[in-house]
Amino acid sequence: MAKKPISTTTKKTPAKKPSDSKKETAAELAKPPKKTSTAREPSAARPSPKKKDAPVSTRKAADLSTTPPSKEKQASQNKQTAAKPTTVQSAAKVASKSSKKPVPAASQRATPARPSTNAAATTSLTSSKKVTPAPSKSPGLQPTAVATPQSVGKKPSSMATSEKSSILEKSADSSPEGRQPAAGKPGLGAKSEPVPTVKKEAKPRKPTPVEPPPELEAPSQPHSVHVEEPLPADQPALHEEQSPAPGHPSLFIVHITPEMAPVAKVGGLADVVFGLTRELAIRGNHVEIILPKYDNMRYDHIFDLQPDYHDLWVPWYEGQVHCTVYFGKVYDRKCFFIEPHSDDNFFNRGSIYGFKDDVLRYAFFSRAAMEFLWQAGKHPDIIHCHDWQTALAPVYLYEVYQRMGMTHPRACLTIHNFQHQGVTGGELLRATGLHQPERFFDYHRMHDNNHPNALNLLKAGIVYSNFVTTVSPHYAFETKDQGQGFGLEPTLHTHQIKYGGVVNGIDYDVWNPEVDGYIATRYGVDSIDAKYDNKRALRHRLMLADNGKPIVAFIGRLDPQKGLELVRHAIFYALERGAQFVLLGSSHDHGINSDFWGLKGMLNDSEDCHLEIGFDEELSHLIYAGADMMLVPSRFEPCGLTQLISLRYGTVPVVRSVGGLADTVFDKDHSSRPLHERNGYLFENYDQPGLESALGRAIACYFDHPDHFRELMKNAMRCDYSWNIPGRDYLNIYDYIREK
Ligand code: ADP
Repeated sequence: MAKKPISTTTKKTPAKKPSDSKKETAAELAKPPKKTSTAREPSAARPSPKKKDAPVSTRKAADLSTTPPSKEKQASQNKQTAAKPTTVQSAAKVASKSSKKPVPAASQRATPARPSTNAAATTSLTSSKKVTPAPSKSPGLQPTAVATPQSVGKKPSSMATSEKSSILEKSADSSPEGRQPAAGKPGLGAKSEPVPTVKKEAKPRKPTPVEPPPELEAPSQPHSVHVEEPLPADQPALHEEQSPAPGHPSLFIVHITPEMAPVAKVGGLADVVFGLTRELAIRGNHVEIILPKYDNMRYDHIFDLQPDYHDLWVPWYEGQVHCTVYFGKVYDRKCFFIEPHSDDNFFNRGSIYGFKDDVLRYAFFSRAAMEFLWQAGKHPDIIHCHDWQTALAPVYLYEVYQRMGMTHPRACLTIHNFQHQGVTGGELLRATGLHQPERFFDYHRMHDNNHPNALNLLKAGIVYSNFVTTVSPHYAFETKDQGQGFGLEPTLHTHQIKYGGVVNGIDYDVWNPEVDGYIATRYGVDSIDAKYDNKRALRHRLMLADNGKPIVAFIGRLDPQKGLELVRHAIFYALERGAQFVLLGSSHDHGINSDFWGLKGMLNDSEDCHLEIGFDEELSHLIYAGADMMLVPSRFEPCGLTQLISLRYGTVPVVRSVGGLADTVFDKDHSSRPLHERNGYLFENYDQPGLESALGRAIACYFDHPDHFRELMKNAMRCDYSWNIPGRDYLNIYDYIREK
């Protein structure tokens, strides 16, 4: 085989990701692979009022997988029994509720859990039943959403030895062609959206006296918000729910976000906003999205972009910053882009993150988004924020805008990753107009739990939001009770009644081998042989040998979070076990990137291995379609989209049992789940034997039991990880916290 060029695909500059995490050393990655032994033991609206040329409003700043050798073909000829489709239902449940007003400061340290009268009354969000709010002792700002995640208390799965009967043995006489693949999402045609009440003019900035938030008392008992249960095989699919679910009102929902795919994407957060907002709109809600107007956005995906609100003046330090707000559609999503005209040049820097003043940049953006809502007369039912970047929005809502009369919106915060929290100094208060250090440096408000004299934006978002979600029940449990909260564990405990996990969905309009325009041949669960056309296409593109080996793939940010030592070990282990390996990843960290470039140089002549260092969305589709197994060996993983996408493409995930991976991948050999729901391989321990236990079993199955491997692929493809269920869960949460 001809020697491969060092790079075979077009490279794109990866966007920067904020990271303050510890990096793996070059020495660690460059060291020769440790000799490995074959693993034997599995461890164990309102429509926006057009305000063109609106009068300038002045105010004081203070106002603020060849066919297994032919085994694939053999397998396809084998008659097998249809496996039941695997669907997962998550039902958001909440418990008691005491008030709909803001949720600031609670006694995190001192106040012992108080026996709660309303805690006994558990209410299912799915049923939309409500609990009569308990009278609050405090007349002013009160604790709001009093609900918590159900599966938050779920313990990490362990592989029970009693479950070691092989799915392969049990499913060998199964017939392959059973059902249609899990239905995807409905098409893009949205129903007409309700028009929320329009407030014609921006209200004057007349401060409305609001009493200071009371010291909230800690809830007395944990509650749950999310349970995962298999749905019956004939569970209605999502497209039956394109109008507001019975009992659900149409809501005006505004997402304030630093990222949205495909226009401004760094990680999974961007995909979540893209997918969730569409689902919410399909369900009959009016949804708007507010983003910074970055200079490096994919403008080719924004349609009819034009200035919508020319003169937005945003209080900042002692003055105001003039902004223009643009409106454009991103595949039917209504988006507003805020462009500040200031010397700070906040969003014209060629990349999204990675600047010393990131905290100020996003504090400004959050303020500008809130100011825009106010000035444009928008009073959404729900303001949904994402990560530390926009976690100040709920603070502004309750500390500034409520006082001015914006009393209707309720705030929901989704935390996609606890690693990044926006820890900063007191300068923030001066910039934002939150001029009361003694108030905001309070432990129960914004004071960082670990650093003296520091403020923590993510913590503030938790304290001030009416409901806080993270992206999987297991991660909710890990962050609150397993020391994975990066210091915010006590805060989560204090606010546990309004904290829960909702597993992300993926957009089946984009990630679906039946319609994917980036792959060589489209396929579904009933035409799975066509997947191997994609395997051949992938090999051709990456100059890999066309042999009978399985392809193990890794796609992801080259960040320590993703388990880079294990990725590196997996490359050598897979090659040693007779597999091929493909990696697509990049890092903004030069050290890590150069380590992987070194590894690539070392392996480049191999006809069984290709490392692509860079970000390439298009290639990622072909890898998802062409690979046989997808490796996700993360140290921690809030939800993880790669395994969800892999499942859809029949690419068997081999993952570490953490976070959302534990909630969505069920081990073929060791799971309490029914055989037809098992869809991959898991390992527990973050070490080489752990990784080998899962990857070794996957490769062995591919070679020794191709028919069983094929069945596993079908189980994977039948899973429903669309936005159907999470969309419903979020609506239940919104409905629960909204002002009624
Ligand atoms: P995170 O948000 O931590 O980066 P997720 O698994 O939630 O991880 O989401 C990662 C998303 O980014 C997936 O859609 C994955 O396909 C995509 N992705 C990651 N790295 C790359 C890359 N180098 N090229 C193309 N897509 C990538």
